This record gives sequence, structure tokens and C-alpha cells, in this order.
Amino acid sequence: MAVQPFVYESAPVRVVFGSGTIAAVAEEAGRLGVARALVLSTPQQEAVAKRLLEALGGRGAATFTGARMHTPTDVTDAAMAIVAAKRIDGTVAIGGGSTTGLGKAIGLRTGLPQIVIPTTYAGSEMTSLLGETEGGQKRTLRDPRVRPKTVIYDVELTLTLPPLLSLTSGINAMAHAVEGLYARDGNPVLSLMAEEGIRALAAALPAIVRLPADKAARSDALYGAWLCGIVLGSTSVAIHHKLCHVLGGAFDLPHAETHTVILPHAVAYNASAVPQAIARVARALGVSDAAGGLFDLARNGGAPTALRDIGMPEDGLDRAADLAVADPYWNPRPIERTAIRALLGRAWAGERPRTASGSSE
Ligand code: NAD
Repeated sequence: MAVQPFVYESAPVRVVFGSGTIAAVAEEAGRLGVARALVLSTPQQEAVAKRLLEALGGRGAATFTGARMHTPTDVTDAAMAIVAAKRIDGTVAIGGGSTTGLGKAIGLRTGLPQIVIPTTYAGSEMTSLLGETEGGQKRTLRDPRVRPKTVIYDVELTLTLPPLLSLTSGINAMAHAVEGLYARDGNPVLSLMAEEGIRALAAALPAIVRLPADKAARSDALYGAWLCGIVLGSTSVAIHHKLCHVLGGAFDLPHAETHTVILPHAVAYNASAVPQAIARVARALGVSDAAGGLFDLARNGGAPTALRDIGMPEDGLDRAADLAVADPYWNPRPIERTAIRALLGRAWAGERPRTASGSSE
């Protein structure tokens, strides 16, 4: 296959990956000239935030443990009050995409340097995307100011991520890579990262479900999540992410679970339009049918496979289909309302994904 024309651009970010790397946080803060860091976390991760403040030594000034899903602006306002009162000169976010989002929102408002220490596989730390909610409305923006300067991946911190959340968060990461493989603005380097990211996660996630403390598997999963995050940060997303944004925004469905349920169906939807990209997904999964392989990965690990099991009302499916086609993202296969409504119906019922040419089985 001849290489297609492409544009390649990489963002300047320093990545420290390993086990016990949280110990390097003071040194990393020093590299950025941060002397009065604000540590950010959710209420659930308050203990780890305290440990982090200690690890920062003289460079830690305060903690704010109120991070919440979808980055509500009133939470950012509360954190900003501490930024001002404590003369904060940088943030260190420790947690999943929700906490990273708060760090990014502060970065957007202040321009202060951010260190992010991710503890899930969501991948937000590698993107310049920020979704904020105000008055129940979520708006998403892309701005270089929200990009973290330094990302510290510490495998030890992921050991406590519950097995089911690990699985759904890992499939959320794979979704970034899958859509990167057929993105209009993809390139050969990102495709290598995407395929390797899916491969690493596909091997690691079942092992983590069996044994959450399996450090080798945890390490592979975090490595895969990093790669998938780079892909998300460098390409535009398509129908899969559009559907998840609609379902999360209008029906308040949980983020990682929604990605887990939708991904096999989105892959089936696009399979005939981008067969080479979908073949790479299948190869990375080690199966012949990418959509079915993703469905089995979720189902065999005990993750949800039906929208009805994660809070989606059946009478909302028509509205979801309307919203998905109203302002569509670019997608390799045209967005057809009837086909999208059928996809949503199958995803709601938890049916096995069906490609355009028939059943994936
Ligand atoms: P999350 O950050 O909401 O975390 C879920 C829960 O798990 C939280 O209570 C958290 O404290 C806890 N947790 C996280 N890591 C843990 C660990 N290692 N051990 C124990 N508990 C842990 O979930 P998420 O799926 O990482 O993030 C979802 C949010 O991130 C959504 O708002 C989504 O829109 C956003 N997101 C943004 C981007 C982007 O590029 N902007 C990318 C992906 C996700």
C-alpha cells in the first residue's frame, strides 16, 4: 500500500513513565520552576493527594480535592480561589480524566504550568481538549494552553483502580486509537502508536480483570493508554466519540462505560468504509473480526454491553439518533439516521454488533 500524503506534528510534553515515579514529582516541579504547587484530586483520592503533597516537599502549597466529572465551572471557581489565596504557581493533578480536566481548566484561565499524574486510562493528559460544564451545558474546546507540560505515569498508582473500571477505562482508551486509525488527519506514525496501544491494552486488560495487582499487566495497560492518548490528542474523532458525547451530554451516562458499549457498534458501522483500518484493529486485538473482538473483550471481562444497563431510557433512543445526526462529526461512512438509530437500538439491547454486510459472528 502506498503511503498517503500526511502532516505530522508532535506536541512538546515531557513524559516520565515507570513504577514509583511519583517520587520524582518535586524534581519535575523544580524543572518547571514551580515553587508553590496546588495538588488536585477527587474526594475519593484525597489520601493519595495528601501523599503527593508530602512528596512535593517545599514545593507543595495546598490541596484541592473537589474535582468532579465533566469539569463544572463552579468547581473550577472554587479551586481558583485557592490559586489566588495561596499564590499558586503551578498545579499537579493526580487522578483520572475528571481531575486532569480541572487542572486543564485552571491552566486555561491562568496559563500556569501543569503536571498531571494519571491514575486511569482515559488519556486526557495527552490532549489539548477540555470539556467544561456550566448550567448543565457541556462545551468542548481545543486550546494549546490546556496541555500539561509534564506527565508522570506511575504504574503503582493504577493498582487500586477497580478491575471493572480498569476494563472500561482501557476500552475508552482503545476507542481513541480506533478512531485515530481512520481519522482524516491521521498519519503513519500515529497509526503505529494506535495499533500498538490497542495491542498492549487488549493483552493487559483481561489479565488485570483476573488479577488487579498484576504489575506487568498494569504497566502494559498504562503504556497502551499513553499511546492511545497521544492519538486522541493528535487526530479528530468521528462517529464513535460523537455518539458517546451525545449519550453522556444529553442522558448523563457514565463516561467509560458508554465508550465500552458503543465502540463495537461504531467499529461495525465503519467496517465497510475503512476496511484496512479495521483490519489493523483486528490484528491488534488478535482476532479476525474487530467489532466482535471488542464486544467479547467487554463481555468476557464482565463490563456492560448494553446501554439499558447503564441508565439509558429506551424512549430516549430517537432523540439520541436525532442529536447524533444533527451536527455530525466527519466520519468515513456517511451518517445515516436510520442506520444510526438501528445501531443505538442494538447497543441499547446489548446485541452483538452487526457489520453492514451482516452479522459479525
Ligand atoms: P474519573 O476521573 O471520573 O474517575 C472515576 C473515579 O475513579 C473517580 O472517583 C476517581 O477518583 C477514581 N479513581 C481514579 N483513579 C483511581 C485509582 N487508580 N484507584 C482508585 N480510584 C481511582 O474517570 P475517567 O474515566 O478517568 O475520566 C472521565 C472524565 O474525563 C470525563 O469527564 C471525560 O469527559 C474526561 N475525558 C477528557 C478527555 C480529554 O481529552 N479532554 C479524554 C478522556 C476523558
